[in-house]
Amino acid sequence: LTQTTEEIIELTEHYGAHNYHPLPIVISEAEGVWVKDPEGNKYMDMLSAYSAVNQGHRHPKIIKALKEQADKVTLTSRAFHNDLLGPLTKRISKLTGKDKVLPMNTGVEAVETAIKAARRWAYEIKGVEDNQAEIIAAKGNFHGRTINAVSLSNDPTARKNYGPFIPNIKRVDFGDIDAVKRSITENTAAIIVEPIQGEAGIIIPPEGYLKGIREICTENNVLFIADEVQTGLARTGKMFACDWEDVVPDIYVLGKALGGGVFPVSAIAADKEIMDVFTPGSHGSTFGGNPLACAVSLAALDVIEKEDLVTRSLELGEYFEKELRKMNIPELKAIRARGLFIGLEFNHPVRGYCEKLKEEGVLCKETHENTIRLAPPLTIKHDELDWAIEKINNVLSS
Ligand code: PLP
Repeated sequence: LTQTTEEIIELTEHYGAHNYHPLPIVISEAEGVWVKDPEGNKYMDMLSAYSAVNQGHRHPKIIKALKEQADKVTLTSRAFHNDLLGPLTKRISKLTGKDKVLPMNTGVEAVETAIKAARRWAYEIKGVEDNQAEIIAAKGNFHGRTINAVSLSNDPTARKNYGPFIPNIKRVDFGDIDAVKRSITENTAAIIVEPIQGEAGIIIPPEGYLKGIREICTENNVLFIADEVQTGLARTGKMFACDWEDVVPDIYVLGKALGGGVFPVSAIAADKEIMDVFTPGSHGSTFGGNPLACAVSLAALDVIEKEDLVTRSLELGEYFEKELRKMNIPELKAIRARGLFIGLEFNHPVRGYCEKLKEEGVLCKETHENTIRLAPPLTIKHDELDWAIEKINNVLSS
């Protein structure tokens, strides 16, 4: 052993910025739902890198695609064409039903791209007066960490001393359709929501909310942007969380699992009328749509479809939720579940539970102090899930 867990954590804390508060575990190997620390202890991953590892760690098909592409060409920039961007954009177009796709790298870059598209659309198509475009967002949202994304946010920790923020953002209570109606003006370009709020603690909106947004947007000529970075690509037991209400947004924002836990790949998908607001030079990214990312993403989407991760997530999620509801967990306030996307909310902070679960071999992380998020890779097997359920029962039941 070159370095112990303790030494690695000390090194990381010494030289690294302290913008995270990780559990005291070092992961040095991973396969499927399992990870290992340098001492060789094995744990089950119940977080899946915030749903970026829906396909499981190092899925052999995705790793194969990565290696094969690494032997051909990895980066061209968009100054030239590469031979895989066409196939990937076609694939995402078919998956979303949208005409066109714009690739970026991280989730927040795709959010930026969606907001830029909406603003341009507002000025050039809708006819909003210069610099007047407004965006409606939902309280409790998480759209990433750029100035634009934290401008959308109302989380004091995410915003403190980062001002000034981007103007013309209106925030409404998540789930309140009348508040959306009241916030619309002739200058509204778009409303952006997560169809299920992830970081806020797996908050599922009341039935009809997404449909309501769809109707209001259509009636008022406003774009509906669905941030499906965390909820999309089978996580909630549907391909997109919007599918729970059979709703089609104007812009899908995708990321995380689009890169199969191997490579950062994100994108927006929208119809031509919206996407055509982008002209050469008006937006871009050196790495966006690079051939290595495209090869990985094509394989990542293959795995989701061929292994029917949508159905797996739906069925195993229902089973998981049922088993959790059978447990006698003290001070549990709520269980919220859609597929293998489950939040357990308590009346008190849950960090201690996460630390105990780690001792039992189950890795998960609190979100917003009082909620444990359970989100294993969607490739998890039934007996692996049963193993985790027993451990969770040991820790949480009285
Ligand atoms: N949008 C949502 C809904 C997210 O959950 C996240 C990340 O957690 C992001 C955007 C930002 O993605 P990234 O961290 O890749 O920038």
